[in-house]
Amino acid sequence: MIIGLTGGIASGKSTVSNMMKNEGIPVVDADIIAREVVEQGEATYQKIVDAFGKEIITNDGCLDRKKLGALVFQDEKKRMLLNSIVHPAIRIRMHEKVESFKNEGFATIVLDIPLLFESKLTNMVEKIIVVFVDYELQLERLKQRDQFTDQEALVRINAQMPLKDKIALADEVIHNHGSIDETKQQLLSILKKWNCL
Ligand code: ADP
Repeated sequence: MIIGLTGGIASGKSTVSNMMKNEGIPVVDADIIAREVVEQGEATYQKIVDAFGKEIITNDGCLDRKKLGALVFQDEKKRMLLNSIVHPAIRIRMHEKVESFKNEGFATIVLDIPLLFESKLTNMVEKIIVVFVDYELQLERLKQRDQFTDQEALVRINAQMPLKDKIALADEVIHNHGSIDETKQQLLSILKKWNCL
């Protein structure tokens, strides 16, 4: 079974995905892959440089993600161009990792994709778990984790699809308001129900 794990920023996805790993379930992390595919030497890196020019490269040859981010943030056409280069590469690489875990004999594989719905990647997974917290707690945990001001945290939360709207699209919801152990118990009961343990 391929499980999609998603939620909102600071809702507890990493916390839950670590729990999955502790249960021996392999996790394919979309954020890590998004960084991998734009490393120097990758075909995607070259495509981005060809499209956006050398000014988006740092002195040591790495992609200047901040500069690129600022560039596409202001320009919808450029954002779409970047996405059209990066998104297919991420999808292909995730698919390759899934296949490789399958070949190793794993029956359950997790895809940790923060923007599972926004990026329309739901067809890559069979079941979806949304890690949910309410808005106030999300704000509080984000501020604390990343040392953000109210404003910095709000901008990031409000840029995403509201977490409560994601619930309607989930097969199962983990309510991450309580203790870490309570969250783990919810996860284990879902995995048992799906015969993944
Ligand atoms: P995400 O991966 O969704 O961005 P994290 O797993 O990093 O979220 O969680 C956000 C922050 O909240 C982290 O600092 C994490 O340690 C903390 N956290 C997550 N779940 C709980 C919980 N049940 N109780 C207390 N703190 C939590």
